[in-house]
Amino acid sequence: MACNKNHDNSDTIVRDLPIGQEGVGRHKCASCAYEIGYEHGLQKAENINLANVLNNLEESQRGDRRHRSPHAAYSLGYYNGVVDSY
Ligand SMILES: [Zn+2]
Repeated sequence: MACNKNHDNSDTIVRDLPIGQEGVGRHKCASCAYEIGYEHGLQKAENINLANVLNNLEESQRGDRRHRSPHAAYSLGYYNGVVDSY
């Protein structure tokens, strides 16, 4: 299933991330990964199963987020969420 969400804001962030398509993150939507990471960061979530998070992402081959590392996207999102929570 391909991601059809509006990622205008997240796409400007994830487009600078490294290219990476390892493991279950292959072809997954990096902008979705960023937004989920951000939510987890805001909550300071501590029991995270990253394999599940990445596995449940929708796929995307679109535009700026194409092939961006979902691992990098998730962790940057998490970081920004923690920073914005203060
Ligand atoms: Zn998406």
